[in-house]
Amino acid sequence: MIEFKHVSKEFVTNNGKVSAVSDLNLSVEDGNILGIVGYSGAGKSTLIRMLNGLETPTSGEVDVNGAKIASLTGKALRKQRQKIGMIFQHFNLLWSRTVVENIMFPLEIAGLGKAERLAKAEELTTLVGLKGKENAYPSELSGGQKQRVGIARALANDPEILICDEATSALDPQTTDEILDLLLQINHKLNLTIVLITHEMHVVRKICDHVAVMENGKLVEDGLVLDVFKRP
Ligand code: ADP
Ligand code: ADP
Repeated sequence: MIEFKHVSKEFVTNNGKVSAVSDLNLSVEDGNILGIVGYSGAGKSTLIRMLNGLETPTSGEVDVNGAKIASLTGKALRKQRQKIGMIFQHFNLLWSRTVVENIMFPLEIAGLGKAERLAKAEELTTLVGLKGKENAYPSELSGGQKQRVGIARALANDPEILICDEATSALDPQTTDEILDLLLQINHKLNLTIVLITHEMHVVRKICDHVAVMENGKLVEDGLVLDVFKRP
């Protein structure tokens, strides 16, 4: 379970203080899919960076399964980060490495042996529907296939949470639907909690259980997708 408790984040800049997130409360149950929407500058990235320990709240706390993220250091923080997978709009793949090498990369960092890495990468290649493409380079793949590699790589360390940062924004509508179907399938199969930042309302409607709408660092809507979209 993810819990943001009275979380605020201020940045000190040359032009004074910027309040990126202010007194935000939000929780996500295990296995749920939460959509976070809001204009540019609303505070979405700051929220996510506090979730994976890249930023520390100015006040309040972010807990994942009872652990206070800001209090973790060293090995405990690295272990916690491994429990959070991320996928991105522009995929962030290693362009000089093959599909299977991209998927094995986080396992290499985690210190797994070659045989284990290969076995895991093979399992993930099948899961994301890229069987036969193991030795292709990212430049030889379509956008949807590149994002499948991103998803497989994000799942390599068996995370509990998957963060999707505008992960379908660079894809055409049909490919977006295919990737969303894959995410739903993975959510069911692995009971993976998914937090999805998007500006696309149909993405929220299609796969999210809950939606949180951010404006100026605050939540202006937070609830079940069915309820939020029904309101006049
Ligand atoms: P979003 O992801 O919704 O576009 P951000 O979390 O990136 O929003 O930004 C929220 C606000 O915080 C913006 O006003 C932004 O300029 C400011 N901000 C974000 N990161 C920093 C930083 N490192 N230093 C100063 N201001 C920042
Ligand atoms: P590696 O670290 O595997 O040796 P490269 O040196 O080829 O990978 O690329 C380093 C980074 O540069 C990549 O992770 C990627 O972010 C960026 N990059 C390289 N080629 C491209 C490309 N064709 N399109 C977008 N980004 C690229």
